[in-house]
Amino acid sequence: MNESQWNRLARTLSGLQVRENEPLRQHTTIKVGGPARLFVDVASQQDVLDTLATARLFDVPCMALGNGSNMLFSDAGYQGLILHFGNRFAAITVEGTRVRAQSGAMLSRLSSIASGADLAGLEFAGGIPGTVGGAALMNAGAFGSSLCDVITWVRCVMPDGSIQKIPVKEMDYGYRHSRAMAEGLLILEVEFQLREGDGEEIRTLMMDYVARRKASQPLSYPSAGSFFKRPEGHFAGALIEAAGLKGTSVGGAQVSEKHAGFLINTGGATAQDFVTLSRHVQDTVEQQFCVMLEPEVRILGG
Ligand SMILES: Cc1cc2nc3c(=O)[nH]c(=O)nc-3n(C[C@H](O)[C@H](O)[C@H](O)COP(=O)(O)OP(=O)(O)OC[C@H]3O[C@@H](n4cnc5c(N)ncnc54)[C@H](O)[C@@H]3O)c2cc1C
Repeated sequence: MNESQWNRLARTLSGLQVRENEPLRQHTTIKVGGPARLFVDVASQQDVLDTLATARLFDVPCMALGNGSNMLFSDAGYQGLILHFGNRFAAITVEGTRVRAQSGAMLSRLSSIASGADLAGLEFAGGIPGTVGGAALMNAGAFGSSLCDVITWVRCVMPDGSIQKIPVKEMDYGYRHSRAMAEGLLILEVEFQLREGDGEEIRTLMMDYVARRKASQPLSYPSAGSFFKRPEGHFAGALIEAAGLKGTSVGGAQVSEKHAGFLINTGGATAQDFVTLSRHVQDTVEQQFCVMLEPEVRILGG
């Protein structure tokens, strides 16, 4: 695409909230990443469909972004359209023990609304800094529970552009895996089935989980959480620590001293610093323990 085609594309989307060359480091918790050519902050299902149709028409790549808490974009950025699901697409409704949330709603807000309605089941999710859409794609989890344990259905845009409400049993959920991930589905809305509980007890449990995170995770530094998936039969952080890698750094990217599973941005890191560091961690752990660590963080263009 040349410059005038990009301008024509941007004009096609002029009714939407579109930004050009938007720095992705401002939209990722790890605080790195170059510019997105076009960044669309969606407010409705129609915005999503219009953006997808435009991307198809101009034959440019298009991808969803939630809170960017599991993303590492390259320093060159993203030459395409980012569909940003944020607080303009974040309605939450409670009906009895069922809660529905649009994909841009933050898990922290969802869990606190649930606890305010004396609904149990989402306590584990309160400290995960992601959106409902990103978490339903990743099947985010903590403290022995995962999002799929409480989901009833997920409303998605299918690859052919149709919209389908997919029951949880057809979502092929597994550890950090979903059908949405495998088939590139866009998540619009998720329904959760919760249980009646005691608001005070729910909030106490949530606070306990948050305190445990604060005690064990380097939350004062930008990061994307645990950088690697848990390998079968092991813990990534324990293997990285045992390999003597705590504190190892490349540029501004460092293996956290507090929790070796976290790669943190100590200031001014580039995406390339993280890619180089993560490969060094993978190689060292594989040489020492014959275990190949697989990134949990979604790396684009690295
Ligand atoms: C400090 C910290 C702690 C963390 N702790 C945990 C934890 O305990 N457990 C855990 O599982 N994760 C954890 N994470 C990782 C991260 O928060 C989760 O994976 C979260 O669910 C990602 O949500 P997001 O909105 O930030 O997604 P993003 O990072 O924006 O996107 C992640 C993926 O989802 C896709 N996506 C986003 N929105 C949609 C949508 N609407 N439709 C389709 N695809 C979409 C993106 O294209 C991308 O592939 C942590 C991260 C940090 C920084």
